[in-house]
Amino acid sequence: MALHELMHVKPAGLMIEGVAAHQLAQTLGTPLYVYSLGRLRANLRRLRAAFEPLSQVEIHYSAKANANLSILRAVLAEGAGIDAVSGGEIFRALSAGADPRAIVYAGAGKTVEEIAYAVEQGIGWFNVENLAELGHLEREAARLGRRVRVALRLNPEVTANTHPYIATGHGGAKFGLTSDAIRQALAEQSRYPHLDFMGLHVHIGSQLGDIGGTVQAVERALELAAPYESLKTVNIGGGFPVPYGPDEQLPAFDAFAQALAPLLRGYRVLLEPGRSIVADIGLLLTRVLYTKYQGGQTIVIVDASMTELIRPALYGAKHAILPLSDLSARGSVQSTQVVGPVCETADVLGRDVPLPPLHEGDLLAILTSGAYGMVMASHYNARPKPAEVVVEGDTWRVARSRERWQDLIAGE
Ligand SMILES: *Cc1c(COP(=O)(O)O)cnc(C)c1O
Repeated sequence: MALHELMHVKPAGLMIEGVAAHQLAQTLGTPLYVYSLGRLRANLRRLRAAFEPLSQVEIHYSAKANANLSILRAVLAEGAGIDAVSGGEIFRALSAGADPRAIVYAGAGKTVEEIAYAVEQGIGWFNVENLAELGHLEREAARLGRRVRVALRLNPEVTANTHPYIATGHGGAKFGLTSDAIRQALAEQSRYPHLDFMGLHVHIGSQLGDIGGTVQAVERALELAAPYESLKTVNIGGGFPVPYGPDEQLPAFDAFAQALAPLLRGYRVLLEPGRSIVADIGLLLTRVLYTKYQGGQTIVIVDASMTELIRPALYGAKHAILPLSDLSARGSVQSTQVVGPVCETADVLGRDVPLPPLHEGDLLAILTSGAYGMVMASHYNARPKPAEVVVEGDTWRVARSRERWQDLIAGE
């Protein structure tokens, strides 16, 4: 898998591009997030190349997967826009230097304050998920004397092949509008003189196990759009999957592009990839604090936890875990449970991880942690948030400094 091409274990140990992971851990401490900007660019370029056959395609990177300003700047430098799901993410995108017109804004619960901010900033697209939201949007656009471009988000009633917590396109989900509600909004366009209804949006979920759900959702969106002259843009969302282990068989960008291209001819197409751009650029470095053999299993307690990476606890997600240096001389690998220090039984980073015998002070990398890692970090157990580092070739720089205890009580 791509990750191992990039992060090969040499005699010098695990490398991220030209930088040794253990050097970063020793210099900056652990837990530590490390991101490869070279890999980020390569991912964006692969996605763009796959969708090249479609004449008008725009990529809006989904900031919620990893919203560090250094990541957003690297995305913008590649010519992509930003997909934001809150006022705070719009603020982050603008702080990174995004052109407001290259920002799309989705969200099932936009507040009036967030809508006002986004209209004032001149955001490119509003993905509208509620008929009442149209009223707020019209009022704010009128008050500020702006025109606003709207894509109505369809709930296509498609069940995505993914974990139930990250499926968004089934009928019972809170996301999007029914096709009846969309027809009603389009029939009442004259009530919204400041809004331009120019597109439909569908996003059925994340880490999609096959292309079938997306194809079905896009077909439903196109069927709905067909009678309306003005609806010439289809935003097909994100959801492209990423392998978290070497044996996972998942559709690549090309598979989605080949299936969708014939359907979308004549439309302007917007993509909102998050995970597929940043998951495999990142790893979380951690240090072994203690080991114990208990209840018939080897348990390794490390200094990272669910407060830095909640995916295993929240979704039962599996991340590969590797030592930063070659420890094969220590003996054969054994099934190991890797856990954090947080006072929750759910604080497990990996079950049944094949690892050599480990000692206090050993350094490990939790792979494929660039997406939905740091953005979901919390202060639970009064744990300061970790530092983040970006690597480019042989150089690295701190992209966010480690929090200190003083930061924990600021504002109280
Ligand atoms: C989360 C989200 C995405 C990105 O999903 P990924 O699976 O990370 O690609 C795209 N669009 C919307 C509206 C989202 O909420």
